[in-house]
Parts: sequence; C-alpha cells; structure tokens
Amino acid sequence: MLSYWEKQSLLQYDYIIVGSGIVGLSAAISLKDRLPAARVLVLERDILPTGASTKNAGFACIGSLTELLSDFNNMPREEVLDLLQMRRNGLQLLRRRIGDEAMQYREDGSYELIGIEEEHALSQIDSVNNILRPLLGGEAFTLVNDKIDKFGFNKTYVKALISNNYEGELHTGKMIRCLIDIAISKGVEIKTGCTVKHFEDLHTGVRVTVPTAGGEEIAFMARRIAVCTNAFARQLLPELDLGPGRGQVLMTNVIPGLAFKGVFHMDEGYYYFRELDGRVLFGGGRNLDFEKETTTSFDLNPEIQQQLENRLHNIILPGHSVMITDRWTGIMAFGKTRQPLIRYHTHNIVLGVRMGGMGVAIGSAVGEQISAFLTE
Ligand SMILES: Cc1cc2nc3c(=O)[nH]c(=O)nc-3n(C[C@H](O)[C@H](O)[C@H](O)COP(=O)(O)OP(=O)(O)OC[C@H]3O[C@@H](n4cnc5c(N)ncnc54)[C@H](O)[C@@H]3O)c2cc1C
Repeated sequence: MLSYWEKQSLLQYDYIIVGSGIVGLSAAISLKDRLPAARVLVLERDILPTGASTKNAGFACIGSLTELLSDFNNMPREEVLDLLQMRRNGLQLLRRRIGDEAMQYREDGSYELIGIEEEHALSQIDSVNNILRPLLGGEAFTLVNDKIDKFGFNKTYVKALISNNYEGELHTGKMIRCLIDIAISKGVEIKTGCTVKHFEDLHTGVRVTVPTAGGEEIAFMARRIAVCTNAFARQLLPELDLGPGRGQVLMTNVIPGLAFKGVFHMDEGYYYFRELDGRVLFGGGRNLDFEKETTTSFDLNPEIQQQLENRLHNIILPGHSVMITDRWTGIMAFGKTRQPLIRYHTHNIVLGVRMGGMGVAIGSAVGEQISAFLTE
C-alpha cells in the first residue's frame, strides 16, 4: 500500500524510458542534453540490462562486403546507404559522448574471411567502393591476401581476406558502464527490477504500470514515454513487426602468440570473431538453426556452440590448443526490413526497437532520434 508521500512525490516524471540497453540509456542521455531540468526515469526489468547491449561482440561496424552485397540485393540502394550513414552517425556520437579511451575504442583492423562460397564477391569490390566513396570519402574495401598466412588462418577454407578501412572495436562492458555513469551524472534515475507490464496513453500523460515484489502494482506517470525493449517489445505490443534472434558467443583462454588483432567477419556477418586481451571472442551461427534461435530464451544451443568450436579449431586457430572459458547468449530483434523501428505508437508513446545486429553502431543515433520525438 502506497503512502500519501510516495503518491505525492515519487511517481511523477516528465519522461519514462522502458529498457536500459544502449538505446534506452542513449535516449535518456540525449533527453537530458536537450532538457537538463527534465525528470527522466529509466525502468529496467532486470538487475543488469538483459537483452543484447551487454552481450554483444563490440564491433563498431558499418558492414562487411558480403553483408552489404546482400543488402544491395534485398533493399533499395538509398536505404542501404541511409543505414550505413546511421551507423556512422551513431558511432561518432557514441565516441564523442564516451571518449575512445574510456571504452577501449580501437582500430586494429577489420577483415572479412572469404571462403569458396563467397569468392564471387571479390569481383564486386571496386563497384561497392565506388558506391560508398561519396559517403565515406575513401576506399572501404581492400584485398589483403598477404595477411592470411600472417594471421595463421586455414587456407583450405580462407581463399581471400578483405580489409574494411572504416571499422573499429570497443569494450562492450566499459561502453555500458560509461553510459550508465553519464546518465546518472546528468540526473537520470535508473530503477532496476522493474518489469513494465502495461502502459496507457491517457492523452494528458502516460500511465506505466510495474508490479512490486509484494504483488501490488505501482503506476508511474509521465508526460511521454519511450519503449526501448528491442527483442522483448512484443511482450508489451504484440502487433509489432519484429521477432527475436538469439546470438551464441564463446570466448577462449589467453592464447600465447595469437597472430592477429582486430575484428573479423565471415558468411555475410553470420559469424564474427575478434581478439580481446589475448583471447578470441567468437560468435554467430544463427543461420544454422533459425527456428530454434528465434527465441527470447537465453539458453545455450549446444549444436551451434559445437559448430563455433569446430570453426574455431579448423579455420581460425588451426594447430592451436585452446580452452573455452566463457559462453553466453544475447537476444537481438529483427523484422521484415533491416531498418530499426523508430516511430510514434501514440501521441505520447515513442518506439525505438528492432536494432538487428547493429545496435552498438546505431544505438546512440536512435536514442538521439527518440529524444527528438519525445520533445517535439
Ligand atoms: C551476441 C551478439 C553480438 C552482437 N554484436 C554486435 C556488434 O558487434 N556490433 C553491433 O553494432 N551490434 C551487435 N549486436 C547487436 C546489439 O547488441 C543490439 O542491437 C543492441 O544492443 C540493442 O540495444 P537495445 O537497447 O535496443 O536492446 P537491449 O540491449 O536488448 O535492451 C533492452 C532492455 O529492455 C529490458 N526490458 C525488456 N522488457 C522490459 C520490460 N517489460 N520492462 C522493463 N525493461 C524491459 C531488457 O532487460 C533490456 O535490458 C550484437 C548482439 C548480440 C546478441
């Protein structure tokens, strides 16, 4: 039972953001940049942010050659370029906001491993570079086959190596730590353990309902709210065009003499790996079992984890004996199109969901857009 004091003073906000992933935190920070005096509350269902933002690979990426070729085949050229520009804008804002050192942002090289099945893409390097040059100001992709031996990859599989000259990498944990710190320093309130069960646009404001541990319900009020729950958005709004996509990740022990640094893509971005503190982080393989991986459950998929291990041993680290020290999953959100879903749901409720596998790159730009909608 709430007291008079609680009802009077602890439930009213100007803006409420549901979800404390990169998008929710970025939206809250952007809101405070626009309106420093606004009372902004972020509601997070778990103790930590629990979706994709603390589970990802930390690639600050604009897309590999085969990923972009696939996009050009499936989407109008303008939409592909818009998305690429959004990734660039998002990364610029993220780097300005946090600072490279604080989130260990580095550009140690970004590459795509080309197997027999992707060799056809090599003939497209020049034409894709020509399309991207006006936007990037230089050559995006260069063939660097001389590095295949240097990096120690299995040449039976790796037929070519393409360098992407516009990508970097960051430490995902430090990035989110910094976003939380920045949000708090600007006066954003973050409440964890608050699963939003329901919200209603009352036209004069929005009521946001959260159950308490004791079985009661607390109704927060805000002028406007943003829903930044990405893959979990259909639990609140079942009609949305989005579905979950689980991503499997593993990490090795420190490998003495590891021959490569930087970030690496394979198979249109379905696999990715990177060096991290002398270890290898390897993830992907969702395409091996789309059906099972279309889920919001964080369980490991043993078959995909095994495939990741096989690729690690056979292609990436042949001849090395490695141990797997960590395994985890994260949940992304995908829809019929690759664009994020950023729009008004009602006059006072804004959606910012469906980040695909690009949320690190676009998340800050999406947050900025959400804050513009909220303050319009
Ligand atoms: C394995 C993996 C690797 C990836 N690698 C990269 C990469 O290298 N580069 C890149 O750009 N992107 C990558 N991504 C994608 C990127 O991580 C996501 O696009 C991004 O984190 C989405 O951020 P978000 O804030 O929209 O969602 P989330 O991070 O999922 O945040 C949503 C939050 O909402 C909370 N929530 C849900 N329901 C409720 C509710 N009812 N009430 C309150 N809170 C709720 C959740 O607990 C969660 O914390 C990867 C993703 C995965 C899973």
